[in-house]
Amino acid sequence: MVYQTVNPYTNELVKEYPFTTDAELKSTIDLADKTYHETQSQPIAERAKILHNVAALFRKKSAELSKICTVDMGKLVGESAGEVELCAIIADWFADHSEELLKPDKLDSIVAGDAQVLHQSVGVVVMVEPWNFPYYQIMRVFAPNYMLGNTMILKHASNTPTSAKRFCEIVEEAGAPKGALTNLFMTYDQVTQAIEDPRVQGVALTGSERGGVAVAGAAGKALKKSTMELGGMDPFIVLGDADMKNVNECAWRVRLYNAGQVCTSAKRFIVMDNVYDEFLDGLIDAFSRVTPGDPMDPSTTIAPMNSKRAKEKLQGSFDAAVAAGAKVAYRFPEIDSEGQFFRPSILTDITPDNPGYKTEMFGPVGAVYKVHSEEEAVALANDNPYGLGGMLFCGDKEHGAEVAAKVYTGMMFVNTPLASLPDIPFGGVKLSGYGREMSRLGQMAFTNDKLLVTADRFDKNNAPGALYAAQDL
Ligand code: NAP
Repeated sequence: MVYQTVNPYTNELVKEYPFTTDAELKSTIDLADKTYHETQSQPIAERAKILHNVAALFRKKSAELSKICTVDMGKLVGESAGEVELCAIIADWFADHSEELLKPDKLDSIVAGDAQVLHQSVGVVVMVEPWNFPYYQIMRVFAPNYMLGNTMILKHASNTPTSAKRFCEIVEEAGAPKGALTNLFMTYDQVTQAIEDPRVQGVALTGSERGGVAVAGAAGKALKKSTMELGGMDPFIVLGDADMKNVNECAWRVRLYNAGQVCTSAKRFIVMDNVYDEFLDGLIDAFSRVTPGDPMDPSTTIAPMNSKRAKEKLQGSFDAAVAAGAKVAYRFPEIDSEGQFFRPSILTDITPDNPGYKTEMFGPVGAVYKVHSEEEAVALANDNPYGLGGMLFCGDKEHGAEVAAKVYTGMMFVNTPLASLPDIPFGGVKLSGYGREMSRLGQMAFTNDKLLVTADRFDKNNAPGALYAAQDL
C-alpha cells in the first residue's frame, strides 16, 4: 500500500506521498490531545462559526475541490461538485443544530434529586475512511465531532490522499485550531498504535468487511468504542402495482451513480413477475445509453472505476458469477480507452448457490431477480449477509411501508431513492456494521453521556431510594 494519486482515466501517477513516521504520529496525537483540552471551554457558537466557514470555503472552492476528487478516484466532475455541495450542507446543518442536539436530557427519575444526562466530548477520535466519496466520508464524522469538541486524526484511503490533505487544509483555513483534524498517511500498524494510545477514545471506520474486522478488532482489544459503516447489497424491490415509468427513471441511476461504487447502490433488483420484463427492458435500455469518457468532460455519463485493482476485483466477482450459471442479460460494448472502465452489465438467473448471490459487486453491475409474491421478495431481500439500506417501489405507499418494515436493514426508502443527509441517520445491521452516522444518533457516537444528579441535601430516608433507611449508629 502506498499513498498515491493515480488518475484512473489516464493512469498517470500525479503525486506520491511519504508515509507518516512514528515520530509524526506521536506528535500528532500529542497535539490532538492538547487541542482537545485547550478548546473544551470554547463556546459552541464559536465552533459553529468556524464550521459555517468550512461550508463557505467548500462552496467557494467547489471547482478546485471537484477536480482534485475526480483526478484522485475518477468520478464524474458533476458528481464531485454534488459531493462538495453535500459536504457544505452537512457542515451548515451541524453548525446550526448541534447546540440544540447536545442539550442535556432531563430525566423524570425517582432518584433523590434532579437527574439529567449531559452529552460531553470524550477526546481524540481516529477516523478511517474510503475513497468512494473522498470528502463526504470525512465530513460525516468531522462535522458532528467538531461541534461536540472532540479532536480527530484521519487515515484516508491510500488512493485519495490529495482529497484528504486538501480537506484538512480547508478546515484549518476556516479557523479551526491546529490539531482539530489532522490527516496522516498511516500504515495499518500505525492505525492500531493510534487506537491503543490512551488519549484516543474511539474510532470510526467506513469501508469493507476486511478493513472493519481489522480496525474493530484493534478497537475491541484496546476497549475503545467504534462505529463501523461497512458494505452492502441493498435490495431494490419492485412490487406488482408500481408505476413502472417512474421505477425505470430511478433504477439505473441508483446503480450507475458514482460508477456503481456506493455502499447503498441498488445491488439487487428484486422484481415481481408481472412487471419483470418491463423492468429488465428499461434497465437494459438505460445501461446501453450511457456515455463513457473523460470524467472531467460534463458530457460523460459513466466514469472509470477508481483504480485498476478495483476493476480487476469486480471482474473476478463478475466472472465467478457467470461461471456459476448467472446469465449476462446485457453487456456494454468494449470501451476504447486506457481508463479503468468496467463495461456496465446486467446479470439475471443468480441462484442461491452462485457466489454472486452474496458477493457485493462494487461497480456498474445490475443483478435482477424475479419473484412471484411479496413474501418471496422480502425473504430474498433478507437472505443476505449484509443489511445496510434498501428501496421499495409500489403503488400504495402505506402498504409499501408495511412491506419495507419487514426488510432487515438499517434504512429503507419507499418510492424514493435512498438518501444520505445530515438530518437523517445512516447505518446498517449484520455485516454492514454497527452504529450510526449523521443526525442526532450520529452526533452521539463519541459522547460521554454523563449522568448528573443534583439534590439540596442528603436525606437518609430518601437517598437513593430506600437503601440507607435501615442503617443506624
Ligand atoms: P477498505 O479496503 O476497507 O478501505 C477503507 C479504509 O480502511 C481505507 O482507508 C483503508 O486503507 C482502510 N483499511 C483497510 N484495511 C485496514 C486495516 N487492516 N487497518 C487499518 N486500515 C485499514 O474498503 P474499500 O474496499 O476501499 O471500500 C469499499 C467498501 O466500503 C465497500 O464494501 C463499500 O460498500 C464500503 N462502504 C461503506 C459505506 C457505509 O457508509 N456503510 C460507505 C462507503 C463505502 P487503504 O486504502 O490504505 O487500504
